This record gives sequence, C-alpha cells and structure tokens, in this order.
Amino acid sequence: MKKIEKKSVLVSGASIAGPTLAFWLHRFGFNVTIVERANELRTGGQNIDVRDKAQKIVQLMGLESKILAANTGELGVRFVDGKNRIKAEFPKGEAAFGTAELEILRGDLATILYDATKDNVEYIFGDQITALDDQESSVAVTFKNNPPRSFDLVVAADGIRSTTRTLMFGREPNIKYIGVYCAYLTIPKMASDNSWAYWYNAPQSRVITLRPDNEGTTRAAFSFLSPDKGYEKLDLAAQKEILKQKFADAGWQAPRILADLDTSNDVYLDGISQVKAPRWTNGRYAMVGDAAYCPTPMTGMGASLSIIGAYILAGELSRHDNCQKSFAAYEKLFRPYVEDIQNLPPGVPWMAHPKTTFGIALFNTVLGIASSKTVRKLGKRFSGKKKKTKERIKLPNYG
Ligand SMILES: Cc1cc2nc3c(=O)[nH]c(=O)nc-3n(C[C@H](O)[C@H](O)[C@H](O)COP(=O)(O)OP(=O)(O)OC[C@H]3O[C@@H](n4cnc5c(N)ncnc54)[C@H](O)[C@@H]3O)c2cc1C
Repeated sequence: MKKIEKKSVLVSGASIAGPTLAFWLHRFGFNVTIVERANELRTGGQNIDVRDKAQKIVQLMGLESKILAANTGELGVRFVDGKNRIKAEFPKGEAAFGTAELEILRGDLATILYDATKDNVEYIFGDQITALDDQESSVAVTFKNNPPRSFDLVVAADGIRSTTRTLMFGREPNIKYIGVYCAYLTIPKMASDNSWAYWYNAPQSRVITLRPDNEGTTRAAFSFLSPDKGYEKLDLAAQKEILKQKFADAGWQAPRILADLDTSNDVYLDGISQVKAPRWTNGRYAMVGDAAYCPTPMTGMGASLSIIGAYILAGELSRHDNCQKSFAAYEKLFRPYVEDIQNLPPGVPWMAHPKTTFGIALFNTVLGIASSKTVRKLGKRFSGKKKKTKERIKLPNYG
C-alpha cells in the first residue's frame, strides 16, 4: 500500500457517510476535517439498519457490539388489516425488506460514529461551504462563518439535498422523485404497542407503519402515492394539515397518530427521491452516501451504502498517490453494486400502496403466502444457494 502521509481532506456532513469516511481516512494517515451545517450532531430520525457488507465494515471498525447494544429490539414486521388482524408476519432476518440484525435509530448510529472519530478528526459545527475552487494542486474553500482554508480533497457527504454537490457538479446529478411521500414522527408508546413493527394499508394508496424503539416511544410513519406537489417545501403547519386531510379516514391507528401530530416535535415530511449521478468524482471533488447515490427507503440500504461507499473511497485513496486513480477505482468497484441496489423492483412503490380494498386484500394474501413457514423455508434454501454463487460486491482488504 502506498501511503499518502498527511493529505488533508474536508468532508461536508456529519451523519453516517461523513464520519465513516473520516474514520477510515484517519486510519490510513489522512488529516480530516468535517464541517456540519447544524450547530450540533443531529440525533433525530427513525429506525435504520446496517446490512450486507456494511456489517463486516462496522465489525472491522470495532463498532458492531455498540450497534447491537443500541438495537431497537424490533422482532420483525407484521402486516395487519383495519381490525389489527395479522395477515402476514416476517420475523427478524427472514425477509430482505424486514427487520435486520443490526437495527438501530439513526441518531444512535450517528452518535456511535461521532464518538469513534471525535478525538482524531476536526469537527466544525454550525458552518457550511459556500464556494469551492479546484486549483489543481489543492482546493480553496470558502465557509459561511469561518475564514477560508485550503485542502487537498473535498468530499460531499451532506445528504440527498446536498448543496456541496451543487457547488461541485452543478445540475448534473438527477434527483428523481419516485412518486411517494413519507412523513415520520415520534409518538407516545401505548400499551398495545409491542416489539413488532406494524404495517397497515388503507385504500387510496396509503400506508401507516408503527415501529418500536429503545427509548420508550413509538416511531410512526405515513406514506402515500402522489404526483410531485412540492409538499416538502411547505412549512410544518401546512404539512401537518395535508397529513390530517390525507389520513383522516384511513382507519386502524390513524386517529391516534393524527392526534399526536400537533404535539410531536419531530414531524418530517418529504418526497422520496433517488439520486442518480453520472459521476461521483471530479478533479479533487468526490461524493459519498445519499449525496451521491441515495437509494430511497423503498429499497432500504441507505445507511449501508453510505458505510460501504465511505470504506471503499477511503481505501482507494490510501492505495494510490494520484487521487484520479483512486476516484476511478471507487467508481468502478462500487457503481455496479449501487445500480443494483437502486434498481426498484417492478411495481415499487405502487405494489406496496394498493388503491382499492380488493388490491389490499390481494397484497395481504400474497404476503401471507410468502410468509408461510413452507415458503420461507424454500426461500431460505434458494437464497442460500444464490449467495454462494453470486456475491454482489467483494470488499477489498485495504490493510
Ligand atoms: C436528521 C435526519 C433524520 C433522518 N431520519 C431518517 C429516517 O428516519 N429514516 C431513514 O431511512 N433515513 C433517515 N435519514 C437519512 C439517512 O440518515 C440517510 O439515508 C443515510 O443514512 C445516508 O446518510 P448520509 O450520511 O449520506 O446523509 P444524511 O444522513 O442525510 O446526512 C447529511 C448530513 O449533512 C448535513 N448537511 C446538510 N447540508 C449540509 C451542508 N450544506 N453543509 C454541511 N452539512 C450539511 C446534515 O445536517 C446531515 O447531518 C435521516 C437523516 C437526517 C440528517
């Protein structure tokens, strides 16, 4: 391995991708600075998971036991009808879309990654990059609140709405809305809430989910199919009104969640979009995580892609003196895997949001069959064989 001593890297965004990249860059001998727009680490967000090769990477980072200790305790996913009758049940680890072994609140994972890096990485909170100038031998960076500085490389890890990405690539990346809005909020836990996640379909292509957490509250989510209406740009009061109108007659636990809308302090509504960028690197610039290749919650794997991408980008930077070679290797190795993950299965998100009561009954019947013990056994056998013949990505060992 050719080691590039003390090259300086500026990373924008302190969530999952940024601190993971910083962890590995520091280990490979780089000087890393992270600039985060928020005044402190953002600890909000709901249940996310660490899957596939990302699990191996957090093992290598020595963080797997901490992530397991912060587990949400979710036992699996139950699909129910309006009378709370279970139509299908997928215990933890038994379905690609269901509960994973490493299931954790986003804020807990961000905190674990921050704690693992804060002593070796310079964190600047409450600031953001306002201008970048790639001067071939280095990048001149202007900040909103701090004096200008110069870095060898700059990486955007500031999420799906990254403004650093725009400074680097202009309008080249495509932010593709996939036709579904999701709203998330934390609500008080009721006696009827247990350690299972619940999924309920209401007519007119609406879904409500309830998930357990390890903080004594319940995580609720609404989703609904809709053309792009720009709801994410409205203020919070207007967004709450839209949710009240959309879900007033949805049944099941809708009245309870809507009653908590006005008191919940973390209501968040957004249109679900994928980021498709023809390139993730340019000169001395690179992107990682949602900023580069957000896959959407419909495919899952957002946090996992961030962790795997950050590991590969750092590893390739450690392998070559020339960052162009490193960037080319990062794109070559990781892009096929990202494209595979971003490939929405036919009918998604429509299939999971049937419009009519007949469609919902059919959806639940199909899931009921898929979740039956016999089919799950067959599925396990089949996927076991598939895994042996085709590994989706081989993680390089960067030493
Ligand atoms: C507060 C929050 C809550 C979330 N909740 C969920 C959830 O419930 N379920 C889910 O599936 N996913 C959620 N996500 C998204 C999830 O974290 C990502 O899909 C995934 O983990 C990839 O992470 P990332 O590090 O690439 O980007 P993100 O997690 O989106 O993090 C981007 C970071 O960059 C910071 N930032 C943004 N703009 C700038 C800027 N211009 N300069 C500097 N910093 C900037 C943000 O404050 C944030 O800390 C949430 C993200 C955030 C930030």
